[in-house]
Amino acid sequence: MRAPLQQIETSGELPQSADAVVIGGGIVGVFAAYYLARRGMKVAVVEKGRMGAEQSSRNWGWCRQQNRDARELPMATRSLDLWERFAAEAGENTGFRRCGLLYLSNDEAELAGWAHWRDFARTAGVITHMLDSSEASERGGATGRSWKGGVFSPNDGTADPSQAAPAVARAILKLGGSVHQNCAARGIETEGGRLSGVVTESGTIRTKMAVMAGGAWASSFCHQFGFRFPQASVRSSILSVSPGAEGLPDALHTAKISVTRRGDGGYTLAISGRGRVDVTPQQLRFSSQFVPMFLKRWRSLAPGGLQGALSGHETLKRWRLDRPTPMERVRILDPVPDQATIRLTHARALDLLPDLGKTRISAAWAGYIDSTPDGVPAIGEIHSVPGLFLAAGFSGHGFGIGPGAGHLVADLVTGAEPIVDPASYDPRRFDAPSWGKVADF
Ligand SMILES: Cc1cc2nc3c(=O)[nH]c(=O)nc-3n(C[C@H](O)[C@H](O)[C@H](O)COP(=O)(O)OP(=O)(O)OC[C@H]3O[C@@H](n4cnc5c(N)ncnc54)[C@H](O)[C@@H]3O)c2cc1C
Repeated sequence: MRAPLQQIETSGELPQSADAVVIGGGIVGVFAAYYLARRGMKVAVVEKGRMGAEQSSRNWGWCRQQNRDARELPMATRSLDLWERFAAEAGENTGFRRCGLLYLSNDEAELAGWAHWRDFARTAGVITHMLDSSEASERGGATGRSWKGGVFSPNDGTADPSQAAPAVARAILKLGGSVHQNCAARGIETEGGRLSGVVTESGTIRTKMAVMAGGAWASSFCHQFGFRFPQASVRSSILSVSPGAEGLPDALHTAKISVTRRGDGGYTLAISGRGRVDVTPQQLRFSSQFVPMFLKRWRSLAPGGLQGALSGHETLKRWRLDRPTPMERVRILDPVPDQATIRLTHARALDLLPDLGKTRISAAWAGYIDSTPDGVPAIGEIHSVPGLFLAAGFSGHGFGIGPGAGHLVADLVTGAEPIVDPASYDPRRFDAPSWGKVADF
């Protein structure tokens, strides 16, 4: 089942040329295109399915600095401002609110970890409040339990995954850009070693600048022209319930269950970090680079099945540019949710927050979370193809930092002062034998 998602109209004919082409209409691609269009560039977004229909509509909607890795924290902080500014400057509603995020725990080690992060966050000017037992129990009153402690991050918030990417797409249209759905980019053309065009199923767009923001499909696309991008995905299954519960926090995380208020007044329910690994040829190819990540996360991962291999997003096959590709066969990556996880998630949520008993399950879905080996996105020019930029591998954090990532891409494409230091995101780091520690999720 697909996650709820607003639909938008596709632009008319594919342009013959553009100043920049963005491949992929997820949150990263649309924000990249938006910030390019704001600089006066003629931008075309090509999306093989529907805008936002993969990870960007399937997530919880958290936009957080809380517990972010040092490499991503500046982008997370800038993104919160950009979410806010976007609504004012574009007149579009992404559902973003600085509602604050609440974390509750009875585990001393977890609380110590959050306190440690708070000390680091202070050095970056980020405000987060550690809660003692009485404060945590009061803020978590809807659980009817007492808690040893917790954290409240007042400046963080949530946006609505069913609204956000379509809202940004509408803003691109207002700025004179075009948005082409059911239009897969099959590959690229080069002249003299530089990018000269993007080949789509509906024709070729001449351009000197393009952005590959294809989420879980990025590595197999790059494989077509020999660029090695280590990327692997995990299937995460979640559900939503109808409106009706009262007095719940807007966004609550506990080790067993996380709950987020949706734009329609319902809630998204999920178990943090839990996922299934559906083995694919690409995962086997990059397995040695993912060992540190796997060792860090194996407790919450379980073996999956064959649906990842069958869907083709992690294929190692080469395809022709004049024939349909796997991206036209699977317009929307819509994996089957893990029913055991859905049942467990719902049962845990009802146990923790009894008022959820007044609601009913409205939808359940899964999404492939695409990750890099260090859990930090790859954003930067692909140096073997000047003019082509990669923005993928958002490792479960890309929705909240979508605006900052899109802004950074636009900075790099136009040679402007980057909004944050791009060094940590350079895709070339994976060519080296080691690339730093694995980020927390
Ligand atoms: C269950 C779940 C919970 C999550 N929770 C959070 C959260 O609370 N907060 C957070 O920050 N992040 C969260 N994430 C992660 C977040 O959703 C992703 O990191 C983010 O949406 C990635 O955005 P993207 O634009 O890179 O990719 P996507 O949203 O996957 O978009 C990529 C798009 O590119 C298109 N595409 C691919 N190849 C081509 C091609 N060749 N031609 C044309 N189109 C192409 C695809 O169809 C797709 O629409 C979660 C993810 C999941 C699955």
